[in-house]
Amino acid sequence: MVAGNWKMNTTVEEGLALARAVCAAVSGIDGVDVAVLPPFTHLWPIHSVLEGTGVRLGAQDVYWKDSGAFTGEISPPMLAGWCDLTLVGHSERRHIFGEHDDEVGRKFVASLAHGLQVIVAVGETSDERDAGSTFAVVDRQLDAVFAELESPPSNDDWVIAYEPVWAIGTGRTATPEQAQEVVAHIKQHVRARYLDGSPRVLYGGSVTAANAASLFAEPDIDGALVGGVSLRAEEFGVIVAAAAEARSGTRDRV
Ligand code: PEP
Repeated sequence: MVAGNWKMNTTVEEGLALARAVCAAVSGIDGVDVAVLPPFTHLWPIHSVLEGTGVRLGAQDVYWKDSGAFTGEISPPMLAGWCDLTLVGHSERRHIFGEHDDEVGRKFVASLAHGLQVIVAVGETSDERDAGSTFAVVDRQLDAVFAELESPPSNDDWVIAYEPVWAIGTGRTATPEQAQEVVAHIKQHVRARYLDGSPRVLYGGSVTAANAASLFAEPDIDGALVGGVSLRAEEFGVIVAAAAEARSGTRDRV
């Protein structure tokens, strides 16, 4: 899977043009689940652009209530039926907007309850890495999600994105070995909780056309959540092609 998080970028018109360019850049590349996550204002018009292209549509965030006095928020029922997925727990939500682990868990459950696939992002800060607590941090963030769940989600309904905070938007990518180590740990942690739990686990953090193939060559990395480069359709297409290449090699699921 390769998902592009556009963050707070592009006007609606620019977003429509970018969506068309992404569809053109990835057309003919098979075997990769491709998604774009534009700002909320763009979702409905871009939904029409994506129809029939195979590129799926995601929201960058969502609230956990269905409706009510929650000014500025967007609920899962507002997206259900035409938007494919949501992203919850992105580090910018956690660190700029002060979102807590339990809120991420509620957003996760609310998305699933309305038939939206959900990507949950987890990852440590550089201080946490330096303190040796990377595994403890991602475990805590995942356990907060599990605490909200009554039963295990089916594997296709959820995706985990491992995004070390120090690598997001900084140009400082985790090495393939660093990313592989944490992604493998995450998979083990999920299996310990849900015996047959094996959602895809993506890596995110300064993924580019130049480093994507080496990340995808790692045995446990199932794709990428791409920020900055997702605004450049051609380069995004190169990342998708690298995922297709990895999948057609020894990997069976990217
Ligand atoms: C992201 O926003 O999820 C991300 C990984 O950003 P970037 O690729 O710009 O580091």
